[in-house]
Amino acid sequence: MNIKKNDNVYILKGKDAGKSGKILKVDSKLGRIVVSGVNQYKKAVKPKKEGEKGQIITISRPIAVSNVSLVCPKCGKRSRVGYRIEKEKKARYCKKCKATI
Ligand SMILES: [Zn+2]
Repeated sequence: MNIKKNDNVYILKGKDAGKSGKILKVDSKLGRIVVSGVNQYKKAVKPKKEGEKGQIITISRPIAVSNVSLVCPKCGKRSRVGYRIEKEKKARYCKKCKATI
């Protein structure tokens, strides 16, 4: 997987196609990510204590990593990611503007 937490991604498919958001969580085993403000569902939470009210919270559900495209923080374009060796370490770079990201 070539994206990681805190990357900005653009949603290509699903009910939030066209939106973009920040990655909150990455599950590399399942190939799924949670993106801020994307694939949100309302969930009813039962009161924990007597006398408390139940409430409705909004949660973001994971989406498939194949449904998103990385947005380069340097050029702001949707881009593919490449890898190159920099200072003996593997570094990601944007294939559009060639900046290390
Ligand atoms: Zn770029």
